Amino acid sequence: MAAQRIEGKPVAEQIKSEVREGVAQLIRDKGVRPGLGVILVGDDPASQTYVNSKGKACADLGMHSETIRMSADSSEAVVLAQVAAWNADPRIHGILVQMPLPKHINEQRVIEAIDPRKDVDGFHPVNVGRLVIGMECLRPCTPAGIQELLVRSGNDPAGKHVVVIGRSNIVGKPIANILLQKAKGANAVVTIAHTGMKDISHLIRQADILIAAVGRPESITGAMLKPGCVVIDVGINRITDPSSPRGYRNVGDVHFASAAEVASAITPVPGGVGLMTIAMLMQNTLQAARRLSC
Ligand code: NAP
Repeated sequence: MAAQRIEGKPVAEQIKSEVREGVAQLIRDKGVRPGLGVILVGDDPASQTYVNSKGKACADLGMHSETIRMSADSSEAVVLAQVAAWNADPRIHGILVQMPLPKHINEQRVIEAIDPRKDVDGFHPVNVGRLVIGMECLRPCTPAGIQELLVRSGNDPAGKHVVVIGRSNIVGKPIANILLQKAKGANAVVTIAHTGMKDISHLIRQADILIAAVGRPESITGAMLKPGCVVIDVGINRITDPSSPRGYRNVGDVHFASAAEVASAITPVPGGVGLMTIAMLMQNTLQAARRLSC
């Protein structure tokens, strides 16, 4: 039987429409329009595309947004000053500094300068700590989106063995922490795999739900999977493709065709996890605005 394709688009659209309603209600009840402030340093084309999409999503959902574009040689002090200005600005409820930053700017110092109540990327140590101990917090967008994809596609992780490949601070660690909480939509047994172990094939084979956040194109194939497992492919890897007009295409960390023959459900790349991040950013901005206006 063919695997269920877990499409990101309908889930992301559903979340955005819930956020749109939430925004309208907050304006009605409290006169507060959620606002997002985005800082972009430099002219990396991919970052510019992300930042433009964030601004468009805000407009579409009735939110206020401001984008400050700075040249690549801007100092850390200038970035920190903008963060401080938005920390104190009642029209801005969420602050996002587009990563990566140029090398001369200390990313961690910038993250820690953001008021944790406005940290809509969920990277501030206060939010990371609150996530780990199961307190309410702003959660990183891509991992939060993965949980929504699982739950809303009918693949509740409760009681399942989830194997996460990758331990980055933006995907691997937070998704593991989200899914192991004793909470609705979580309560999984979680294993995190990384390069510290030479051969992780026996771990992959045990996964009821496999979350691949490896950054290696199509490195996980169907033959490695437990039959009937659910596969969430976080990877976005650009590979050369002379048959494409652009000369390249994006693939995941999982070899889709072979995995779809073994798995019961799988996210495509593109079209899966990648579409969730902005929807979750919008949800976080609404959540921050609600809390700040209490
Ligand atoms: P990262 O920081 O490079 O982390 C990759 C992780 O995979 C590391 O923990 C690494 O282990 C582990 N790893 C690499 N090769 C391995 C192997 N052979 N066996 C076991 N573990 C291995 O990457 P990331 O930022 O988490 O991103 C992962 C992927 O997701 C990338 O393709 C990225 O583009 C994509 N991504 C997508 C979204 C989205 O959809 N919106 C968002 C973020 C990232 P070590 O720690 O031991 O080195």
